[in-house]
Amino acid sequence: MTKKTTLLFVQIYILSFCLLYAQSIKIICGDSLYKAYLNKQYPGFEKSYEKTLEQISIQAEQNKHFKVNNATYSINVVVHVVWKDSSENLADSIILNQIQVLNEDYNRLNADTGNLRPLFKPIAGNAGIHFNLYQIIRKHTDSLFKISLTSGTTPNGMKFDSLGGSSAIDPTHYLNIWVCKIQPLTVGMYTLGQILGYAFPPNNLSNWPSNSGAPHPGEDGVVIDYRCFGRNNPNIITIGSQTITIKGRTPTHEIGHYLGLRHIWGDGATFGNNNCTGNDGIQDTPNANNQSNFDCNTSKNTCVDTNLGWTTTDAPDLVENYMDYSSESCMNMFTQGQVSWMITTLQGPRSGLLTNILNYNLAQTTIYPNPAKNSITIQTSCNLNNTNINIQDMTGKVIYQSNVDLKDGKNTFFLPQINPGIYLLKIYNENFYSVKKITIE
Ligand SMILES: [Zn+2]
Repeated sequence: MTKKTTLLFVQIYILSFCLLYAQSIKIICGDSLYKAYLNKQYPGFEKSYEKTLEQISIQAEQNKHFKVNNATYSINVVVHVVWKDSSENLADSIILNQIQVLNEDYNRLNADTGNLRPLFKPIAGNAGIHFNLYQIIRKHTDSLFKISLTSGTTPNGMKFDSLGGSSAIDPTHYLNIWVCKIQPLTVGMYTLGQILGYAFPPNNLSNWPSNSGAPHPGEDGVVIDYRCFGRNNPNIITIGSQTITIKGRTPTHEIGHYLGLRHIWGDGATFGNNNCTGNDGIQDTPNANNQSNFDCNTSKNTCVDTNLGWTTTDAPDLVENYMDYSSESCMNMFTQGQVSWMITTLQGPRSGLLTNILNYNLAQTTIYPNPAKNSITIQTSCNLNNTNINIQDMTGKVIYQSNVDLKDGKNTFFLPQINPGIYLLKIYNENFYSVKKITIE
């Protein structure tokens, strides 16, 4: 389930290292103080945060036009940016770019589909999954996130407020993606490797070993190293002396795991050849005896495949597949068999993700007055019963929640005592979703 763990050598060490989970910044006296503090510590924070709110709204508008109606499935995504050094606090433009890469790759709209070898074109699949950026949560941390070599478990600190991370938002209904620095695997002064990302499949899928799922519901989701997020990411990642090409395909790969896919070589070959004994459980993918090594070797044909169902001649290794470890510059496809398996997973153990399908087209929303003081009126273009109203502060914390009927599309409610500032007002029910930036005076 972990991606791209390059081990230069393996030896058993009894390690005793301690991770200090320093307390993350807590909001003490309302958001303006917090904001001022952050702005002082990290100049430009306020501006950049306001931009986040704006860009989410813009993205929501764009989603209306960006294939949302053509895609069959829609998944709401929460991106948690858990950062220590400022370079890890990725700009909104990088996050939006990554969402776009996902929407391209999962709708076969990626520009490099033409690079697929003709032999494989008949089995290339379009997943028809749209990823909707629902929320960006930014969290400053002093914690380090490092794999435990003694237990072999991937770090989970980024997933919990109490460990210096950012706790998941309702993992049944939202795909949570944590973007942070994943510490290299080191023993003493030796660097053994680097994990670029990891994810859990749902539990008990037939193509995975039992109990491969998240050990705790709050850990379900995807973790991506901050250097591997977005095609326009300015940060560089190297493994050994090799600089890894980043085209936003690490998240494409990890979400493939999250939706039930295994590596195309069927695993069992992390440290060498599996003699073609591994199996990803997908019929149309050619088998391979090992992962690609960040290269793009189209002459590779490591296993004899005679039972793929779509060709009678032995197919070469499918290095263009998102579930290999080939260079991101040559990955460009899922197979139809993989797509079918992901959709089965989405309609089965991941079906909670689909119950929140957003319909941006149902109604236009107006909020007034804005800036608001004591009360605020919501007006939409149609009646909306059983509508949730929630106001979130700069950190994503819900500070007001209510359930109302918008009769004649309208409701005025009195604001609770809220510190002056900029907030996010969300209005939603099972068919409708709208986010507005509001200023409270
Ligand atoms: Zn993987």
